[in-house]
Amino acid sequence: MEKQLMSQFWHAIESAKTIAIGGHKKPDGDCVGSSIGLYNYITENYPDKEVKCYLGEYAKEFEILEGLANACTCVDEKSFKEAIHSAPTYDLFIALDTSNTERLEFFKIFEAARDKILADHHITNERYARLNLVFESSSAAEACYDLIAFREDKEFPLLSKPVADAIYLGIIHDTGVFKHSNTTRHTMEIAGALLECGVSSSKMIDGTFYHKTYTQNLILARVLLESELYFDGKVITGVVPREYLDLYNASKPDLEGIVDQLRITEGVEAAIFAYETEGEGNYKYSMRSNDIVDVSKIAVKFGGGGHVRAAGCTIEGSAKEGLALLIDEIKKQL
Ligand code: 5GP
Ligand code: MN
Repeated sequence: MEKQLMSQFWHAIESAKTIAIGGHKKPDGDCVGSSIGLYNYITENYPDKEVKCYLGEYAKEFEILEGLANACTCVDEKSFKEAIHSAPTYDLFIALDTSNTERLEFFKIFEAARDKILADHHITNERYARLNLVFESSSAAEACYDLIAFREDKEFPLLSKPVADAIYLGIIHDTGVFKHSNTTRHTMEIAGALLECGVSSSKMIDGTFYHKTYTQNLILARVLLESELYFDGKVITGVVPREYLDLYNASKPDLEGIVDQLRITEGVEAAIFAYETEGEGNYKYSMRSNDIVDVSKIAVKFGGGGHVRAAGCTIEGSAKEGLALLIDEIKKQL
């Protein structure tokens, strides 16, 4: 990332008295980790600033992060509306891990802010802020690390545990614990430096990535039981209609990780996981690929986005219809 842009990023923060940090809808580990990491860093280093994080309904496991309870306004739909309603006009909104304004959960607060900047790592980022820093990094959390390292003027600065834990959590989630192809030497070096800051590595990895609640296991089992294979098992699909969430008393965060379980099925190149969104007659699709298929291209075609090996979109209509469209696009690439 160009030094000049990173310098402008910190200048925007220094010029603001009130700052909101926000991420994408259905916040994942990277979204929560990068937001809380940056939040903790700013509050430690600029105690005079008023900083607030705006995150949607995130998985309970992320409460392991120190600072999360202080930072955040909202976890469910009711408090979401209240948060939007009662939010002041911020001097600065920092959007993290979010490729376009539609994906930005608290867009209204972003829109009203006097200045807007973003740090992201999606190749499909639409550069919707005044200052746009789109990193070629594993995760938004890695981007935040690089931004902090720039400000500290050290390649691997010593960070407080609350900052280090959050960034580490973001990195492990977007790299699937260092196994996805987005993991680079730099990612690993940062992880090593974070260990020296005292991160609770196994607690973060087991507690937020591998452990599943009983509910999560049940719904995963149901999806796997009903999964379908196409093209000699190169493509696999799984579906969660709305009624399953009620049946298993599950919520959206409980669906995290299902698509990856589909993806690691022997012989599979691409996996599609679909779940019905509330009352809109739409399905949200998560796609993953292993070596060949560029799922980001397909997602963009249907108004979504993401990365080459992990992307998503929403398509109106039944899962059957939506899956047929996506499978057809995958077929073209196989
Ligand atoms: P997931 O399948 O885990 O929800 O998302 C995989 C990746 O694709 C993430 O980086 C996520 O931000 C991105 N993504 C998922 N859904 C959408 C979408 O509807 N629009 C865009 N632009 N990106 C998406
Ligand atoms: Mn991310």
